[in-house]
Amino acid sequence: MQSVFLLTNSLNTGGMSAVVCYHFPKMHRSKPDFHLSNPNEQQRRWQEMRQYKPEQIVTARLVLEEIRAGGEVWQAIRHHPQKTGGYIPKHLLVAVYRLGVEADEWEEDPELLARIRMKPMRTLSGVTTVTVLTKAHPCPGECIFCPTEAKMPKSYLPDEPGARRAVQHGFDPYEQVSSRLQALEAVGHPTNKSELLILGGTWDAYPREYQEGFIQRCFDAMNGRESASLEEAQRINESCSHRNVGLVVETRPDQITPDQLAWLRSLGVTKVQMGAQSLDDRILALNRRGHTVADTLRATALLRAGGFKIVLHWMPNLLGATPESDLQDFARLWNTAEQGTGFCPDEIKIYPTQLLKTAELFNYWERGEYKPYSEEELIQLVADVKALTPRYCRINRVIRDIPSYNVVEGSRRSSLRQDAQAELAHRGQHCQCIRCREVRGQSVDVDQLKFDDLVYLASGSEEHFFSFVTPDDRLAGYLRLSFPNDGTPLTISPDLENAAIIREVHVYGQALAVGTIQAGVAQHSGLGTRLIEQAEMLARSHGFHNLAVISAIGTREYYAGRGFKLSTLYMIKPIE
Ligand code: SF4
Ligand SMILES: [Zn+2]
Repeated sequence: MQSVFLLTNSLNTGGMSAVVCYHFPKMHRSKPDFHLSNPNEQQRRWQEMRQYKPEQIVTARLVLEEIRAGGEVWQAIRHHPQKTGGYIPKHLLVAVYRLGVEADEWEEDPELLARIRMKPMRTLSGVTTVTVLTKAHPCPGECIFCPTEAKMPKSYLPDEPGARRAVQHGFDPYEQVSSRLQALEAVGHPTNKSELLILGGTWDAYPREYQEGFIQRCFDAMNGRESASLEEAQRINESCSHRNVGLVVETRPDQITPDQLAWLRSLGVTKVQMGAQSLDDRILALNRRGHTVADTLRATALLRAGGFKIVLHWMPNLLGATPESDLQDFARLWNTAEQGTGFCPDEIKIYPTQLLKTAELFNYWERGEYKPYSEEELIQLVADVKALTPRYCRINRVIRDIPSYNVVEGSRRSSLRQDAQAELAHRGQHCQCIRCREVRGQSVDVDQLKFDDLVYLASGSEEHFFSFVTPDDRLAGYLRLSFPNDGTPLTISPDLENAAIIREVHVYGQALAVGTIQAGVAQHSGLGTRLIEQAEMLARSHGFHNLAVISAIGTREYYAGRGFKLSTLYMIKPIE
């Protein structure tokens, strides 16, 4: 007896009349036809399936059956090669799985879906990142290493992965966000929690009207409906099905002022990426950065006082630098306030200078005044700096994702991170940054987790990096708590009077769709609540009257459920 799974290509596809029937071995349940609740969704799924040949769908079913029976994903794929050569792509497995579930033929199985997902790495830190670019606009900077491309925001090349998508959509924020969410959903990524990463030169250089409109349209796309104002779009997002759990912009240190930070907060920004590039005034001047190291320190202290998460960009191999001077420069990032500085960024992007034709640095190179490091020098340097990175920082990148044919001379290796990791292993060292310790998809035994409080003095605050770590030192979750002190710059909002500030709560695990529970995944083990309770206890014992949190729009509900109330720019919980 065979159950029948009908794929009728004539359904809502605008004229295809052939009806194709596929017969499959018996499943849990079977239905003779195909029911989808939402007609738009139905149409989208059918359009998606039209790109596949019938025999591919049959093969995908066989692969899925083997996985459902307990087979290993890659082995199952290899057991069923396609007749035309090659193997079934994972996105087809996801599409066929979804059809089976929609047809009510298979039970929904989040664990199976997690296993067949195409690129689980993208969502393993707990949230999905949606990257968008702003339109071309002049930047106040004149940095000699920065490329200038027609019709592109400053510093971006039209063929970088994120930028290419933005160009395709004419830099329209709504189009960029909605197409990205659709693409992620099509391959099975939950998109109910996403971080919005806005790139494009210097955000603060854009007119405020543009900034506001841009973000409103991004929210509209997440909300799936139009709004009359940014405020309305934000309100809808608080409880919609695609929540914004982080909003990131990028800027320069000299743009950071209390007034600007209050503005960013009103837009919903939670994290700021800022180009430090070097902590040496001589190098900054040679490369015409147009700001000083003191500006960078002042800006990081202000950002921290405002509770923002701080991502610094740091560039080795600038004009005038050597591998030795770069190593000393990197070490300065981690000097504490007691040692005189206290940049201590939460995350860092290492962008070794890449020699590009449309940057002024190219002329220096042509005149013989600049020379990129060799591949080996760069690998050694990245290994050195990884070994120096403290446990509270996450190294997000060690190279910029530029297609290698744009690089005139110097390293074109995109595998720099792996090369540096191999070098570290060879030396018997390892990187302890957050990224290298995240639990990723691994199951965690909550009872085995150890709580840790790493304290350091940054400029303008005493920082507490709380974490839960597994017995083998994997990071299951963390919280950043700032205690303002005598060195804290004037706060940007009365909300923060006498308040300790939670700058980040992060618990790992595959980002799960609302209402699904996956065994052993850290996000659903109450770790976030436990971290917040610890923060409250410590802040109270330090004499603070309030606990503030810089909440993204889509996490307001989460904090409200833990006793916080929205004030003006922050959510506050009295803790006296
Ligand atoms: S500030 Fe940034 S975007 Fe502006 S010129 Fe310098 S590197 Fe380029
Ligand atoms: Zn690392």
